[in-house]
Amino acid sequence: MAQSAVPEQRAAQQPVPLRVPVRDILPWAVFAAVLGLVLIYFVGAEQGATSLFSGTWVHEFTHDGRHLLGFPCH
Ligand SMILES: [Zn+2]
Repeated sequence: MAQSAVPEQRAAQQPVPLRVPVRDILPWAVFAAVLGLVLIYFVGAEQGATSLFSGTWVHEFTHDGRHLLGFPCH
């Protein structure tokens, strides 16, 4: 009789999986994707004809990251 209560206690202590609805994650996923694309643009394409800012300060600021990620540079 006492042994039959042990499995019930174990069942009650089982962790309940956390459910996160996609609807809650979607805005943050879109935000992270846009932020990532902006970062990739500034590291990989902000130079020459595709530059949004005059001068080379953005290119020089992200220069090490450009070489680290393997973007063609010079
Ligand atoms: Zn370079």
